Amino acid sequence: AELAALVAGASVDVPDFPQPGVVFKDLMPLFADGAVFRQVIDGIVAHHGAGSFDVVAGVEARGFVVAAAIAYATGAGVVPIRKAGKLPRKVLSASYALEYGEATIEVHEDAFIAGQRVLVVDDVLATGGTAAAAMDLVERAGGTVSGFSVLLELGFLPGREKLSPRTVHALLTV
Ligand code: IMP
Repeated sequence: AELAALVAGASVDVPDFPQPGVVFKDLMPLFADGAVFRQVIDGIVAHHGAGSFDVVAGVEARGFVVAAAIAYATGAGVVPIRKAGKLPRKVLSASYALEYGEATIEVHEDAFIAGQRVLVVDDVLATGGTAAAAMDLVERAGGTVSGFSVLLELGFLPGREKLSPRTVHALLTV
């Protein structure tokens, strides 16, 4: 509850971004506040347990910020899941539907050692398309998803249901 209040207090609603009618939740103020950022990262680590994952996979670009902090705090490694065309070596790709069109994310095919336990993180869970694709990539690349965390879940969208039976850990659901 305390962490939820911290996330609520450090996010800003931006109306009509990136399109008219969408209220974008901007978490940059949370990242910029050192004390809040540390408590949020420590809260995610405490939820899963520092020994429950070997690697943290973050989704470009705000997921990188979260993933790197969790990894540094726990001694885990970081694997970036990137937008199409950014990774230099052989990749696995996953595409998913957006409201208009399609998005593709990628991971290096050799990013994980077989059976490595992977905590997948992002800043926001909306429709769940990105998270579902990210977890699909981790498993196709030989990792085992040990958990999934976001700072903020948009509870009026069916992201959580889309990911079922996997469970979602969100510090704040709005
Ligand atoms: P989804 O695939 O619809 O669940 O969208 C989640 C992805 O889009 C995440 O990578 C988020 O970073 C980004 N995203 C969607 N909505 C927001 C928002 O309101 N604020 C910040 N990021 C968002």
